[in-house]
Order: sequence, then structure tokens, then C-alpha cells
Amino acid sequence: MTAPSQRATVRRSERSAYDPETIHSILDEALIAHVGFVSEGAPVVLPMLHARIRDRLLLHGSPASSLTRALKRNPAVCVTVTIFDGLVLARSAFNSSANYRSVVVFGRAERITGLAERAAALDAFTDKVMPGRRPHIRPNHEDELKQTAVFAVPLDEASAKIRSGPPHDEDEDYELPIWAGEVPAAMVWGEPEPDPENLAGVPAPEHLDHYRP
Ligand SMILES: Cc1cc2nc3c(=O)[nH]c(=O)nc-3n(C[C@H](O)[C@H](O)[C@H](O)COP(=O)(O)OP(=O)(O)OC[C@H]3O[C@@H](n4cnc5c(N)ncnc54)[C@H](O)[C@@H]3O)c2cc1C
Repeated sequence: MTAPSQRATVRRSERSAYDPETIHSILDEALIAHVGFVSEGAPVVLPMLHARIRDRLLLHGSPASSLTRALKRNPAVCVTVTIFDGLVLARSAFNSSANYRSVVVFGRAERITGLAERAAALDAFTDKVMPGRRPHIRPNHEDELKQTAVFAVPLDEASAKIRSGPPHDEDEDYELPIWAGEVPAAMVWGEPEPDPENLAGVPAPEHLDHYRP
């Protein structure tokens, strides 16, 4: 599979992927996106939640945020997401590395103005971050929808890069009596803690099981 553009071409091609299945699976698993944009002539990168509907990446924020204001003037963005899979401990610091799955998306963020489309986008956020919770919580008021700016970035200029496996050391370093290998890493949720303001007798919902290790 070839890259969609020159700027989206990963130089280390053995680590690259451009197929939608790979790109979507990384985006769907990663919770945090880093969104790069230009604000008042200078680059800014902000971490935020993201979601996806089909082949569009969704971002949301306050209409007064610097992201919303900047994208009005210049909708060009570069969004990255990363899943950190572990450390790669080589026989030298130079060859030590990280295992990861990451995606870089270039594109123009289009503001979603239609109320119904915006509601669907916000539902996608809720379903991604809090799977199974939406039927159990108060639906958004129309006013809340109006207070949320939602942007869609097409995923047609995106690349994935994946590193996995043991270190790649210099040939002569394999003769050294040094332990080398991988230290896997993953994010784990903690035990849910009820809000002290919960009404008496309200049980912990089943969808909390999603967060249990
Ligand atoms: C957790 C983590 C730690 C890393 N640590 C380092 C580090 O310390 N130093 C370092 O130099 N690099 C590190 N990288 C790799 C880094 O993201 C770049 O891939 C690398 O620096 C090569 O950059 P380049 O511009 O020469 O790549 P190029 O291959 O020339 O980039 C060209 C295009 O390929 C795509 N691309 C590049 N990198 C990625 C990526 N990671 N994911 C998806 N698409 C990509 C983009 O579209 C980019 O415009 C790390 C990556 C991750 C995820």
C-alpha cells in the first residue's frame, strides 16, 4: 500500500502502514491525540480526546478555545496519536528505543455546524471514551451542543508507523555480556471510585467493567 502523499510517506518503509484498517485500529485504541495547528503565526500542539466516524477524525472543544479560534483562520492541522507499547533495551543507549503504534494525519479541520451531525459526533466521543455509558446518562441539552465546537479531519492523508520486537544492535554488540530485551507497557485503569455525592443506593453500573483490568 502506498502513502497518500509525499509528506505522509514514512522513510523507514518497513515500519509504515497506510491501510485504513491499521490506521483506524490505532486511532480507535488511542485515547489522546496531539493536535498541531498554527495560532497567531506560531505552531501550537495541544493534547485532547478524539473520536472517529468512518473516515473522519473528530475533535471537539469550546468555541472560545484557541484551537477553535485558530482553525477559523487557518484550518490546517497535523494530528498525531501514539500507543506506547514498551521500552526496547538494547546493548547500547544509541540502539535503545521504544515499541509503539502511531498515526500522523495531515488535513484541514472542517467545522461541523449542523446540530444533528454535531450530536452524532459528540455521541461518538462518549461511546469511545465511555463505552456503554450513554444510555445511562442524561442526554446533552441543545444548549450544550451549541456550546461545543466540533471539527472533522478527513483521514485521506494519514500514515501509521509501528515498531515492535527486540532491539537491533550492532553486530559486534551481540558478543557483549549485556542483558537486552523489551519491557512491555500498557495503560491500566484503576478501581472506579464513586462520587461522594452519589445518591444512596445507586449501584455501580455494569459498563464500569470496561475499565477493570
Ligand atoms: C513513543 C515514540 C517515541 C519516539 N521516540 C523518538 C525519538 O526519541 N527520536 C526520534 O527521532 N524519533 C522518535 N520516534 C519516531 C518519530 O515519531 C519519527 O518517526 C522519527 O523521528 C522519524 O522522523 P522523520 O521526520 O525523519 O520521519 P519521516 O519518515 O521522514 O517522516 C515523513 C512522514 O512520515 C510520517 N511519519 C513519521 N513518523 C511517524 C510516526 N511516528 N507515526 C506515523 N507516521 C509517521 C509522517 O507523515 C511524516 O511527515 C518516536 C516515536 C514514538 C511513537
